[in-house]
Amino acid sequence: MWFFKSPHIIFGADALSHLNQIQGKRAFIVTDRVIQAMGFVDMVRARLSQAGIDSRVFVDVQPDPSLATVRACAVAMQEYSPDWIVGLGGGSCLDAAKAAWFVYERPDVDLQAINPVEHFGLRAKARLITIPTTAGSGAEVSQAAVISDPEARRKLELATYELVADLTIVDPLFSAQMPPQLTADSGIDVLSHALEGYNNQWSNDFTDGLCLQAIRMVFEYLPRAVQDGAGDAQAREKMANAATIAGMVICNSNISLAHALGHSAGAIFKLPHGRVTALFLPRTIEYAANKGFGRYMDIACMLNLPADDELQASRSVSAAICKLMDLVGLPASLRAAGVSPEVLEAELEALCDGAEMDLGYVMSLRMPDRFELEQLFECAYEGRAVDP
Ligand SMILES: [Zn+2]
Repeated sequence: MWFFKSPHIIFGADALSHLNQIQGKRAFIVTDRVIQAMGFVDMVRARLSQAGIDSRVFVDVQPDPSLATVRACAVAMQEYSPDWIVGLGGGSCLDAAKAAWFVYERPDVDLQAINPVEHFGLRAKARLITIPTTAGSGAEVSQAAVISDPEARRKLELATYELVADLTIVDPLFSAQMPPQLTADSGIDVLSHALEGYNNQWSNDFTDGLCLQAIRMVFEYLPRAVQDGAGDAQAREKMANAATIAGMVICNSNISLAHALGHSAGAIFKLPHGRVTALFLPRTIEYAANKGFGRYMDIACMLNLPADDELQASRSVSAAICKLMDLVGLPASLRAAGVSPEVLEAELEALCDGAEMDLGYVMSLRMPDRFELEQLFECAYEGRAVDP
């Protein structure tokens, strides 16, 4: 038995105008100062006001939001007593909104006790709207919120399907002005979500089609969005949609090995999530196929790549990913991402430890042993294929 969970999704040009129609009294917007400076908060408040909804704003979300931020945000929610929570921004703002909303609803439950099994009875006070402004994280439709705990030097991944938003608004206007580097870093994560969602323990019939469509869209539209983001409205809209589609994939299937390696390397080398995770993709695809757990034939055929058998298909797909990364200016190896050989050597044990503790490791169809993990990091360092 399984299920599929998704918010009600409004997408395309002018999607934001849907806010005019919602019913309620008070909305609490969770965002950051960059988003505010871009004028997006005012746009959202104007729409809410047209719907007769009063609003208040919390603008203090930082990248990798901390427990302290979440608590401060929840206190402000408590004072205002909203019936809508609006997460507006990139993954950090959306995650902070979800976590603070949880505390607002259930101040009696410790955040670390959140789990996918228990019922918490959220929505007694408010419902959640997510409005993504970067095309990438998928946090707008996912069941998880990643919150950092700087004192314990770790990240908490809070997950319950009750955290899936009620309404998601995917309006391409928000990502239209993103600079090329951010477009590439966040856009390539869409590919990682779709490819990993297609080949892990929880892959299923309901997400497979979403994976294929998102993969196709990234290959077609990410280079255009990076090259001419301000002028190519179609590419922006397609990438915004692809990001949310791939977000539905991670919510209803899961991540896999490239995310395990990427989370570990990202924490140690302080590299952006999308950039560092994607450079492991070609290597984990080769690894899975070498071990007989490849599932890349359909993807290779869809992309018109050579695919006589599963092994060739996996090689074709990994080569195509490297080519795409080169095209959008992303490093296809840890070396190209700026990591020195000495640092890699010094951190190799810690990298493997971090990967082994990650959800993506457990989700992979074949969990590499310690020796294989080291090999994966070494191949990803040099950008060379994993030998069969
Ligand atoms: Zn990701």
